[in-house]
Amino acid sequence: MNNLRNRLANLESKIPARVTAKPQTEPADSQVVARFDAFFSAVSPQQERKVFDALFPFASDKPDMPHHGLSLWFLEVAAGKAFCPSRIPPEVMTIYLDDPAAQPRNECAACGLRLPIRPGRQGGPAMVNYFSTCPVCGGKVQWYYEHGNRHNARKV
Ligand SMILES: [Zn+2]
Repeated sequence: MNNLRNRLANLESKIPARVTAKPQTEPADSQVVARFDAFFSAVSPQQERKVFDALFPFASDKPDMPHHGLSLWFLEVAAGKAFCPSRIPPEVMTIYLDDPAAQPRNECAACGLRLPIRPGRQGGPAMVNYFSTCPVCGGKVQWYYEHGNRHNARKV
């Protein structure tokens, strides 16, 4: 028995001490939470549930299929890398919800709103450009890499 006790003590001595300190909230974390809240506040109430189900299928009782383009846009907004208007036009969100292949690869040249396209493929379906003018401000819509310095996007 003593031998077993010694062996356990020896094993325990090799286990690193548990981290008992409460994780500190960084200012950056609260900014992410604020952007998360701002994003959902900007979604129309009629679409809020569907957007939540699409972004967080594992937390939903009605999980939707993955919407990678919507997830990418949401994560960029949460990270402070993409603009979020105070009200996201429902027609923009409808594209992301109805077309799982939609990607936030266009951007309004005036306000910076990221807008969806459906990428085309060589020898396959052509690219679908859903918006030629910004549904928020009426600005010209362009391939978002054209802004170059904006959001640290690379130039093409
Ligand atoms: Zn705009």
